[in-house]
Amino acid sequence: MPEPPPVTVDPDVCVACGLCLAVCPPNALELRADRLRVLSNCTRCGWCVPYCPVGALRGGRPLPRRRALRG
Ligand code: SF4
Ligand code: SF4
Repeated sequence: MPEPPPVTVDPDVCVACGLCLAVCPPNALELRADRLRVLSNCTRCGWCVPYCPVGALRGGRPLPRRRALRG
């Protein structure tokens, strides 16, 4: 499987809410002076991307679609 693209943050869109920091397994996100940085230990897992409420994060491994709940 090809390596997923690196995770990037659009600084013009990010509102520095910090939500993504709380969900990153290896603590690869850093918020300093309202600027979010993706650190070198990011595994590109993609987990943080859908948690951003304003869509400022891009890249990473595409997450599997949620399966429809069966009754
Ligand atoms: S892609 Fe994974 S490792 Fe990288 S910043 Fe997001 S949650 Fe953290
Ligand atoms: S969740 Fe989105 S808006 Fe909030 S700090 Fe992370 S990238 Fe910025």
